Amino acid sequence: MSIELLDRLFRLVSEEYESAWFIWHGGEPLMLSLQFYRDAIAAQEKHFGKDSHRIGNTVQTNGIRLDRKFMEFCREKKINVGVSYEGPGNNVLRERTSDVEDNLNMLTKREHVFSVSSTVSSEMASEQTSLYEYFRDRRMAVSLSPVIPAGCAALRHELVPDVGEYVKGSIAAFDRWLADADAEIPLIPHYLYLLNALGEPTESDCAHSSCLTKWLCVYPDGSLYPCAKGRLPEFRMCGLGDVERISDAFLTDGFRKMLAGTVERREKCRSCEIFDHCGGGCSMDACYEGGIENNGNPSCRIYKEIFTHIKDRTESIIKDRKDLSQYNKFVRDAVTGRLIDPRMPM
Ligand code: SF4
Ligand code: SF4
Repeated sequence: MSIELLDRLFRLVSEEYESAWFIWHGGEPLMLSLQFYRDAIAAQEKHFGKDSHRIGNTVQTNGIRLDRKFMEFCREKKINVGVSYEGPGNNVLRERTSDVEDNLNMLTKREHVFSVSSTVSSEMASEQTSLYEYFRDRRMAVSLSPVIPAGCAALRHELVPDVGEYVKGSIAAFDRWLADADAEIPLIPHYLYLLNALGEPTESDCAHSSCLTKWLCVYPDGSLYPCAKGRLPEFRMCGLGDVERISDAFLTDGFRKMLAGTVERREKCRSCEIFDHCGGGCSMDACYEGGIENNGNPSCRIYKEIFTHIKDRTESIIKDRKDLSQYNKFVRDAVTGRLIDPRMPM
């Protein structure tokens, strides 16, 4: 992506939005040099100001090319680093696992902060408790999500986990984390679901907080899409050079198609007992799994079962006034907050 294109993006966003979060991902974003990021952040600072609280950045990398210099730059510019890494299951989906592990060990030694996103394949679906323990022992905050039949997995369906196995493995990992009194990491998305069950807003969980008009994906050629989870031609909105305001991109046919399909699906979701928590789920997941206008797809079933389990457990902790010391500190704090402020809906 050219710096000129980025400069235009930052200008348009700064003119119209109070705040924005930029996620740099790929492909592999660290195929670009450190100088590219220096120039990009300089362009951002030109439009938003230095040390602006209006913006944030996250780089999502496979970790192979992470090095000390890049991490020091991220520390200086307060850029979040997310690593896509599956721990003991990394070889199933990725390569050069030992290089990634060396880099992560180096970062940990130097006290650099980063989080991990693990994509759970069919092979790892029943191993999610071990995955949690692996990252817990290394004090790496981890987020687990299933492989969906998009991207590479569209051609390798055997990687997509069975719904029942995934749910079972995910619930077991949650129960382990819940009762892990010494846990120093939140388990995501379970922790967000628990906050949601307690009535807290969880905007970072895009699938259950309505992403539409709030997220935008910019491809290197400037093409705009409503989401980064795939480049389906029917949802292409326009080019960055075609609009004078970012909000104009949401008036295009590509976005209307995304919106119309999503509204149709959400109408079908209204009778669902957890609609107020779910909001109808992720449109791109639905799109890949059975049509944007349909619910009942694997992502819907996975969310419903896992969320309902977490909600039931959370309600029983509150109702039975159980001894909170048996739960991890994230759960203790969240439940204590709810008990102090019982106005929150449940
Ligand atoms: S379509 Fe799905 S993945 Fe994309 S921003 Fe929306 S909820 Fe998130
Ligand atoms: S769990 Fe499924 S049916 Fe229920 S609201 Fe979410 S997507 Fe719709």
